[in-house]
Amino acid sequence: MIPTIIVHGGAKTITEDKVAANNAGCTAAAEAGWAVLISGGTAAEAVEAAIRVLEADPTFNASLGATLNNDGEVEMDAAMMEGSLSWGAVAAVQGIRHPISVARKIMDEKPRLLVARGAERFAAENGAELCKKEDLIADEQWQQWQEDQKVIDRPNTVGCVALDASGVLAAGTSTGGTTNQQQGRVGDTAVVGSGLYADNKLGACSTTGDGESIIPVVLAKTAIDFLTGERHPDEAAQMAIEALKSKVKGEAGCILVDRQGRVGWAYNSSHMACAYMTEGQDKVAVFTQK
Ligand code: ASP
Repeated sequence: MIPTIIVHGGAKTITEDKVAANNAGCTAAAEAGWAVLISGGTAAEAVEAAIRVLEADPTFNASLGATLNNDGEVEMDAAMMEGSLSWGAVAAVQGIRHPISVARKIMDEKPRLLVARGAERFAAENGAELCKKEDLIADEQWQQWQEDQKVIDRPNTVGCVALDASGVLAAGTSTGGTTNQQQGRVGDTAVVGSGLYADNKLGACSTTGDGESIIPVVLAKTAIDFLTGERHPDEAAQMAIEALKSKVKGEAGCILVDRQGRVGWAYNSSHMACAYMTEGQDKVAVFTQK
């Protein structure tokens, strides 16, 4: 099987001064995941490696530099799913540098979705890199939060989908949620079927955008179902976003890899940073607009 990886930096508006940072961050993430895949690593390992890069980059709404909730705090959700239908997720967590790694770790456990203090305790007991919750607040987000208390909706998860050499697919997501979200809110990112889905028989998908719109249309699973009959992932992604637009109001995007390693993506926001790599490319392909 030909390994493939695609990452996104969120469905959002990317102003001219932020294009380079979005491109650089998504490229670095795709390269990190690709390095795992070509050295024989699994799709889940590649997704984790790629999302850790995005979580460490304050350009993106995940972990360091994530958007702040209505208490002025970073509160995060993350999830991982493998095409064998194994999954794990954490929600409403604080003081964890890489929520995606905790989500991956919890895939082997039951329960597989832990929130808040229970998830933080699981992270601590399983060697996750912890920090003070304030350490994840970037200056830019803090200033924006103080100036712009009225903004209540500026979503942009990060995500990644990969296919490894043995034909296993994985998808991952990580987010700080929506700007000024109510403390305790959980969006689609930690919800299997909505924020992510992976099925080795069809493909894998990671979504981004307005969780309250993504959840009722079960966006990731909807996109995967559109892959039936060998439909190209680009068309399936577009159909999923059209379904969201026709059924509910809201802004969203998704990235897909099918079981053959073909990539696709679509969004109805003004931009979505996106980067992918597969065999035959000499470097990562990266875009902020399609
Ligand atoms: N989907 C996320 C949520 O609603 C927001 C995002 O895309 O960051 O929580």
